[in-house]
Amino acid sequence: MGKEKAAALRRGVAWLYREVCTRGLNVGSSGNVSARLGEGMLITPTGVRGDTVDEADLVRMDFAGAHRGRIAPSSEWQMHAEIYRADPRAEVIVHTHADCCTALGALGRNLPAFHYDIAQFGGDDVRLAPYALFGTAELAGHAVAALEGRTACLLANHGMLCHGRDAASALLAAVRLETMARQYLLALAVGEPHILGAEAMAAVRERYKTYGQQPERRTT
Ligand SMILES: [Zn+2]
Repeated sequence: MGKEKAAALRRGVAWLYREVCTRGLNVGSSGNVSARLGEGMLITPTGVRGDTVDEADLVRMDFAGAHRGRIAPSSEWQMHAEIYRADPRAEVIVHTHADCCTALGALGRNLPAFHYDIAQFGGDDVRLAPYALFGTAELAGHAVAALEGRTACLLANHGMLCHGRDAASALLAAVRLETMARQYLLALAVGEPHILGAEAMAAVRERYKTYGQQPERRTT
C-alpha cells in the first residue's frame, strides 16, 4: 500500500474512533477500532479517548503482536487480529461497550430476528460470544466463532463487535446494531417479542438480493 493510502487509512481510523465516541457508542477509552493494513493492521492505542485521539498515535502492527514505537496498542489487539485472519471481508473493525448491546450480553441473550433487518448482519441472529477475560486469546477465539459468516456479534458481560468494508460502513453497522439492541430491549421490557422464523428470514434474504439495486445505467 502506498504512503498516501496508508495516511488516508490513518485519518479514517481516527475519524471512526471519534465518531463512535461522539455518537455515544463508547465512553472514555473502553472501545477500540482498527483497519486492515497490508499484512497487519492499524489500531487505536491503549487508554486513548475518542475526543482526544490523534491519528499519529494509532499503532501499526502485525497480527502476531509486533509493533514499533513507544505507544502500546489496544489491549484487545488480538481479538482484532484474529478476526482479520479469519474473515477476508473484514477491513475495518469496531469494538465498543455500547449500552444496549452490553445490556443484552449481561442478560446472556443474543439478538434474534425480532426485526427482519437482522439479516443485514449476515444471518438470522446476532450471536452472543461466551464470556472470557478481556485481552485474551480465549476471548478472541470466542469472538471469531460468534462472527462466523456474520459481520457482528455480542460479547457476554462485555459489549459488541462489528466489521465493515470501510470506516463508514463499520460505523453504520455499529449504530444499526446498537439501535436494534435498544429496540429489542424495549420490546422485552413489555413482553415476549415475536421472533421471525427461518422461512420468513429466507424470504428477507431473497428480497435483499434485488432491493435497492439501481437499473443499469444507459450508455447512450
Ligand atoms: Zn472491550
